[in-house]
Amino acid sequence: MKPEKIWIDVIGCVLGALIPFTAVAATDVDSLLRKTEAVRTSDPHAFAAALTQLDEAQRSATRSQKQKIKLLRAYQRMAGGKYDTAIREALSVYEESPETSLKFRAALLVANGAAITREFSLGLRYLESALALQDQVSNAEERELGSLTASILYNQYGQFALGQHFAERLLAQDASPRSKCFAQQLRIEALFGLGVSLDDETGINTAISQCAALREPIATNLLRGYLARHWASKGKISAAIELLETNLKEVEDTGYPRLIGEINGLLAEYRLRNGDIRGAEIHAHRALKKGGNDAYSLPLVSAHKVLYEAALRRDDLKTALNEYRQYAESDKARLDEVKAREFAFQLSRHELQQKNQSIELLQRQNDVLRLQQDLSKKSAQNNQLLVAMLLMVLGVGAYWAYKIKRVQMMFRRQAQVDSLTGISNRGHFREEAEVHLARCKATGKEAALVLLDLDNFKRINDRYGHTAGDSALRQVAAACHAACREGDLFGRLGGEEFAILSCGADLHAAERIAQQCRERLAVIDSAAIGEDAPAITASFGCATTRLSGDSFESLFMHADRAMYRAKAEGRDRVCTHEERPVLVRTSATA
Ligand code: GH3
Ligand code: MG
Ligand code: MG
Repeated sequence: MKPEKIWIDVIGCVLGALIPFTAVAATDVDSLLRKTEAVRTSDPHAFAAALTQLDEAQRSATRSQKQKIKLLRAYQRMAGGKYDTAIREALSVYEESPETSLKFRAALLVANGAAITREFSLGLRYLESALALQDQVSNAEERELGSLTASILYNQYGQFALGQHFAERLLAQDASPRSKCFAQQLRIEALFGLGVSLDDETGINTAISQCAALREPIATNLLRGYLARHWASKGKISAAIELLETNLKEVEDTGYPRLIGEINGLLAEYRLRNGDIRGAEIHAHRALKKGGNDAYSLPLVSAHKVLYEAALRRDDLKTALNEYRQYAESDKARLDEVKAREFAFQLSRHELQQKNQSIELLQRQNDVLRLQQDLSKKSAQNNQLLVAMLLMVLGVGAYWAYKIKRVQMMFRRQAQVDSLTGISNRGHFREEAEVHLARCKATGKEAALVLLDLDNFKRINDRYGHTAGDSALRQVAAACHAACREGDLFGRLGGEEFAILSCGADLHAAERIAQQCRERLAVIDSAAIGEDAPAITASFGCATTRLSGDSFESLFMHADRAMYRAKAEGRDRVCTHEERPVLVRTSATA
């Protein structure tokens, strides 16, 4: 059996029994799985029987349970030396299972198996995959197994700094005493690998006693081997020999080739250094016989070297040559192995670096994509904001344009309208009259102008006050407006003087309009102005374009003259520009 396989099994034995599969529901398959797992490393026969039972229960198993059965089967294949099949099955569990714990254990199994089949790159890749999952594994014992496996394999790959790291990581945790015993041994192995000499022996002695108390002969004696090396490096060869010899039986009883090879190899070397050629040869031969058959292992190399040097000292040149040849071959094989492991390690580091770089690149791309999305979101928001602002500006603009127009219209109206009566003022009447006259002229129609001036209005003001006068003016405007024909222009020329321009009206029609006004003035209730107020009357003057021409000035002048004639003739009457009063009606006759 391969050396590291046994070592991992020794550790697995301690931890494996502690590792329960996560219980889902109390189904038959689950309890069977737990039972199988419990005997996995301690009882191979019970394990095989339980696995057969599980195979039969496969049909009712869930997807997750099937994966667990598959992993257990992979463990069995591994224990039976079918490493390739075990690796294949563990790989498929790793690829297919979504459960972190299962993936983690499967990756560790691949790493372990690949180290045995010397597929170093594969082993390292899956060791690193397992370690990447380690922090997510909820079961503390499973995590311990991860750190221990990492420490064993990194030491084996000659990566002692990493081996030390994982051993110390475990020692720093609240791990089980057995795990700590293995971690102590792995740490000291790593320190020796790194060429660090022990400052004092307290640490290693404590580790030896702890491992011995836990009845862990492999770890205890591997540690004794390092203590012996330490003593030998200080020249204490005999003490080293005595330490190893005293515990040799315990070593041999473990049946662990690496340990037997190492201890016998050390004994052979130290006995030779002490001049005990025969004793050296005995231990060298035992190392070769029981130290496993891996041509590249260090105990084998040193055993051949001891045998070569011993034969040389005995002047047995033939044996010396033969042993030297084997020493050279195994040394070369070992160096090739070291190089292959180193290469595999560098390769896996490179792969890991590439993977990390790709992940980083993907993250960067994601960042860029996210930034682009943010940017387009922002620009969309900006566009919306811009549109909203434009709409607001347009709205405000439209509102102000409307307001300004309203104000303009108000001003224009104020400029055109007489504030007291609400009819056109003099200026506006004049402008409109010009337009109307032009239109009448263009259509060949006659137009007439009626002017009226209230009679003795000053008296009303004087007697009843200005307010009463204003009220009378408003009533006069309303009465005359009502007398106008549709389309006629009506305005207040100033004071108590009003004018009507009627397009299409001849002198008779103008007189009729004036009479209408007179009649409407006559019915105004003068009592509302004040007590004993006189009736409101006016004097009217009419003129038409037929007699006065089309200009407003001449029309106005003639109508004004006629109006003054009406005043002069006694007021409250209508005069026309014909130089004769058409109708002379006093208020009594009206
Ligand atoms: P006549 O018959 O000769 O026209 O006499 P009269 O008093 O009407 O004429 P006069 O020109 O002497 O007086 C016009 C008066 O009209 C003077 C003023 O007190 C009054 N008057 C002019 N404008 C207003 C106004 O806006 N409000 C009021 N209450 N009175 C006005
Ligand atoms: Mg007047
Ligand atoms: Mg007057």
